[in-house]
Amino acid sequence: MSNFVDSLMNDVKAKNPSEPEFHQAVHEVIESLELVLDRHPEYRSAKILERIIEPERVILFRVPWVDDQGNVQINRGFRIEMNSAIGPYKGGLRFHPSVNLGILKFLAFEQVFKNSLTTLPMGGGKGGSDFDPKGKSDTEVMSFCQSFMTELQRHIGPNTDVPAGDIGVGGREIGFLFGQYKRIRNEFTGVLTGKGLNWGGSLIRPEATGYGAVYFAAEMLGTRSETLEGKTCLVSGSGNVAQFTTEKILDLGGKVVTLSDSTGYIYDEAGINREKLQFIMDLKNVRRGRIKEYAEKYLNSVYTPLDATMDYNPLWDHKADCAFPSATQNEINLEDAKNLIKNGIYVVSEGANMPTVIEGVRLFIDEKILYGPGKAANAGGVAVSGLEMSQNSMRYPWTREEVDNRLRLIMKSIHQTCVETAERFDTPGNYVNGANIGGFLKVADAMMDQGVV
Ligand code: NDP
Repeated sequence: MSNFVDSLMNDVKAKNPSEPEFHQAVHEVIESLELVLDRHPEYRSAKILERIIEPERVILFRVPWVDDQGNVQINRGFRIEMNSAIGPYKGGLRFHPSVNLGILKFLAFEQVFKNSLTTLPMGGGKGGSDFDPKGKSDTEVMSFCQSFMTELQRHIGPNTDVPAGDIGVGGREIGFLFGQYKRIRNEFTGVLTGKGLNWGGSLIRPEATGYGAVYFAAEMLGTRSETLEGKTCLVSGSGNVAQFTTEKILDLGGKVVTLSDSTGYIYDEAGINREKLQFIMDLKNVRRGRIKEYAEKYLNSVYTPLDATMDYNPLWDHKADCAFPSATQNEINLEDAKNLIKNGIYVVSEGANMPTVIEGVRLFIDEKILYGPGKAANAGGVAVSGLEMSQNSMRYPWTREEVDNRLRLIMKSIHQTCVETAERFDTPGNYVNGANIGGFLKVADAMMDQGVV
């Protein structure tokens, strides 16, 4: 570690104790940005980096609600308004028992760079709660969402802060949140994205993150004159991102052999075809069941329960060409990264946010595989959220083809920014530097223009 990175990281750790995910996200970015600060001392003297690391605002609130048995429950709600230099705060809401301040700060920090890369005018934010929608009735989820929005509504707005979904927040939750916002504020605006098609949503928004991660992989493969046709792919997760990643891989002629949830994973050597994917979508989105049921239905597949005592995840220990981590942060540890390389994987396109530990990222870069970090590869979701905001402002919806074409062009442009920026900073092929620096420059220049605020 250089002196600069070392001393900044010491400050970050002292100021933000017990937030390891935030430290990890900042560390990865500042390693890349050292190259920029050497060429642009004006950023250093304006303390741009130190300001980007500090959220503009952190909101923390009580979320009381009543469960189906009549018991009072109390959760904690958060919204991190990280940076608004290039547009209103924008980023998802996560409902998961693991949610805490450090995890949301890491996500909000990543979001700033990701949103900048999309070419659209969006600042960065993130929020959520330690509420667990799993096992709750629809009435309980509604009760929670209404209480959560009763407080959040005073902090957000279509020109201020526009939340969306993330883990545990899908169409059902966005509907309940939007209904409560509209009721309290008496206005129908694009205050949330990921809305239903009948009430302001955009075509392709549910598909966008997964499709985008696959388009990004296709662009990376294109640099070696290859395509996804005939490639075997490992996908983790089985939620929104994993489902539409699988769908687009099938569209482009690839084969997906794994999917997972927090209890285990399935391996299907024959490949998850469209009929099997439909089964997964029904299982996860309607019946809200466990991935194990896939192996009970398709007897040639194998289910392996999660074993937390193992130091690697066997999902990443299969022969394949590409990997699409699409579940959660740090799901690929160093052992997993080594297994991926050993098994011949040479494309990693991250649908999830920060799914690879920093040592794993370094290994991918050293091995010169095509590694697309989350803030570039999964930016398709927020990009189409940006397009949803445009359609809401115009009060005019675009067709499926129009949105999909724009998504494809945006992913192409993000890829090009990464490649060109990495080259300009003398690290060709390094998509991590490309994404971090490419995302940073636009925000930094806007901050320079706007003075010390
Ligand atoms: P979903 O809630 O739809 O699905 C999450 C999936 O990951 C589920 O299969 C879940 O299993 C699994 N999972 C969650 N936490 C863990 C864990 N701790 N260990 C193992 N498995 C876990 O979320 P999304 O698909 O929307 O999000 C997945 C990832 O993609 C996240 O990192 C998110 O930040 C990122 N992302 C999402 C975007 C979006 O538009 N939705 C945009 C950009 C990034 P189980 O059901 O058992 O919990």
